[in-house]
Amino acid sequence: MKSMSSLSNLFIPTPLFRQHHTPFPTQKPRRDAILCSQGNLDINGQLKLSDFQLAKTPITPIQFRGRTVYIKRDDLLNFAGIKGSKLRKFYSLFKQNEDIDYDCLVSYGGSQSNAMLALAYLCKYYRKRFLYITRPTPERLSSSPGNLREALGVGMEHVQVSLETFRACFTDAPREIRKTACSVLRNAGYDVPSAKFLFVPQGGAWTGAELGIRVLASEVCDQIHILRRQGLLAPRKPILFIPSGTGTTAFYLQKHLHPHAQVVTVPVSGDERYLIKQMRWLDSYDSDEKEQKMKTTMFPDILRPRLRSTFADVRPEKLAIWKELSRSTGGDFEFDLVYAPKTWEEVMLAIDEGRLGSRGEDLIYYHSGGAEGNVSMLDRFARAGIR
Ligand SMILES: *Cc1c(COP(=O)(O)O)cnc(C)c1O
Repeated sequence: MKSMSSLSNLFIPTPLFRQHHTPFPTQKPRRDAILCSQGNLDINGQLKLSDFQLAKTPITPIQFRGRTVYIKRDDLLNFAGIKGSKLRKFYSLFKQNEDIDYDCLVSYGGSQSNAMLALAYLCKYYRKRFLYITRPTPERLSSSPGNLREALGVGMEHVQVSLETFRACFTDAPREIRKTACSVLRNAGYDVPSAKFLFVPQGGAWTGAELGIRVLASEVCDQIHILRRQGLLAPRKPILFIPSGTGTTAFYLQKHLHPHAQVVTVPVSGDERYLIKQMRWLDSYDSDEKEQKMKTTMFPDILRPRLRSTFADVRPEKLAIWKELSRSTGGDFEFDLVYAPKTWEEVMLAIDEGRLGSRGEDLIYYHSGGAEGNVSMLDRFARAGIR
C-alpha cells in the first residue's frame, strides 16, 4: 500500500510541482515542470538523462457540455525544447543514449513536423548531427516562424529530395526504409557511415516509442485507481480518448493500459485504414516473441471520422469547439488547434449518436501538447476570415 502523501504526489509531483494535499491543483502548475532528476550531474555539470525519470503529469478535470472530462496533462512536458507527447516517444533515446553509439540521427517526414523539431532539440542536447529528409520545401518556410525555422536554428541539416524520390522511397516498405534513407543521403552527396547512424521513422512511429509510453500507461493506471478510490471515477473501465497522427502513442498506450482503460482514438492526419496499417506494423515488431505467442495485443478503438476535414485545416467549426474548450478550462491551460478540435468534434458526435460511452463510462482526454503552434494556426484562421 502506498502512503497518502505519495498518492497526492501522483497529481502534483515534487519537486517540480508544489506539494498539495487536494486531488487537483487549484493553481496553475509551472509550465517548465518536466523531468525530475535523481540528482547526478556528469563531468561537465550536465544533467545525465539516464538518471532522470519523467515527472508525473497531473490529471485535471474540466466541465464540458455538462459532463466532467479528466485531462491527462502531457502538454506540461518540456525538456530541453522537447515538448508534449514527443518526450514520451523519444524517452528511450534519453534513457539509452549512453549505450547507443551513433554520430548522426536520420529521419524524414513533413517540413513542419513536431517530431522533427523534437529530434532537432534532442540532437542539440547530445551534440549529434541531425539529417532530416523532406520533399521540396518552399524557401519562405525556412525564414518564417514555425517548426522548420526553429529546427534549422538549433542545427538541423535539411535534405530536400525530389517529390518522385521522396514518394518512391518513403511511402511503403517500412522495413527497408533505413537502407533506403542511407542510399538517398549518399545520392544527395552526404557522407553517412551506415553503422553509425540512428534512424527514426517519420513521426517517431517506431518500436523505440514503447518504453516511454509504457511509463505513461503505468502512470495513468495509478491515477485511475486513485481517482476511483476517491470516488471520482466509477468502478467500470473509463474511456481514454486521444488524437492520432501515426497512431504510435495510442497503440502502445492501449497495449499497456489494458484492461484498466479503453483507448479510443481519432485519426487526425490520415484515415482509419492508415492507422490500422501503422498499428499492425508496430504489432508485428513486438520485441518479446514469447509474450506475443501467449496473448494478442489489444488494439485501441479507432473512431471512423464522420466529419469531412483534412490535416491542420481551417474550418469555422474547429475554431468554435476550440473556443468552447478554452472556456471550459477557465483560461488555465490551452488545447492545440490541430489535434484537439478534430478529436473532440468526433468524440462528442459519437457520444451524441450513442456510438460511444453509452454505458456512462468516465472520460479521460490525453492532452498531447502542441499548443505552441496555436499562434500560426490562429493567424491562418484570421486570414481566412474565421473568428
Ligand atoms: C505527434 C503528435 C501527435 C500524434 O502522435 P502519434 O503517436 O503519431 O499518433 C498528437 N499530438 C501532438 C501535439 C503531436 O505532436
